[in-house]
Amino acid sequence: MTLLHIQIAEASYDTIPVLHDIDLQINEGAFIAVIGANTAGKSTLLKSISGLMPNVKGTISLSGENLLHLPAHEIPARGVAHVPEGRHVFPFMSVEENLWLGGYCRRHNETALRATLEKIYVMFPRLAERSKQLAGTLSGGEQQMVAIGRALMGDPKLLLLDEPSHGLAPKIVQELHDAFLEIHQSGVTTLLVEQNTKLALSVASEAFVLQAGHVVLQGKSSDLLHDPRIREAYLGI
Ligand code: ATP
Repeated sequence: MTLLHIQIAEASYDTIPVLHDIDLQINEGAFIAVIGANTAGKSTLLKSISGLMPNVKGTISLSGENLLHLPAHEIPARGVAHVPEGRHVFPFMSVEENLWLGGYCRRHNETALRATLEKIYVMFPRLAERSKQLAGTLSGGEQQMVAIGRALMGDPKLLLLDEPSHGLAPKIVQELHDAFLEIHQSGVTTLLVEQNTKLALSVASEAFVLQAGHVVLQGKSSDLLHDPRIREAYLGI
């Protein structure tokens, strides 16, 4: 069943168009990588879904509701969580305070929030150990865990991950990818933007390729990994 139907005629910054003629259907429970070169429009696509792009022409429908008709602050309560590029944790707040902020849209259900917090601490034990530490003093990988945990506190149906591995050591990247698989297995539909094409295709089950703001290829990750166009353009093989 389709969870998200993205139909973007055009998305632009001021008058400069970045995305055009996109029509994508994303099934409930899918784990999809969005790959493409720098400036292809990957982050812009995620921002369009989470309401952070003011100029989007088209329809982005989540379970039949057009998200483009909603202000950005109402979108998390519809079940969309965005982990932005660069993490953007609140540096002068503790790990736990950062996490609680992610649950704002569920603030009337403290019992459920506490249960989610416990699950996040099981997924990322380092966050439990550092729950009182200021988020700004954590390593890059730990800050990424906070950003992901903060998104999960909203109990999302759809998780948007923008370059979560950027600048992190391989061991941490592996830990994060194990967490993504666990999140996916729990039923959360996931869109992963990743510069590292090989990594993205090894963790997500499907992928689409953005080129100059347009989807040029899509399919199963295992097929794309062997596609000569992908191997030549993005894997350098
Ligand atoms: P990267 O991996 O480099 O982040 P990307 O595929 O995510 O690339 P976007 O960040 O979506 O690409 O950028 C697409 C285009 O939009 C680029 O040409 C970029 O310069 C432009 N752009 C991005 N953000 C803004 C902004 N706030 N104002 C104006 N133009 C922008």
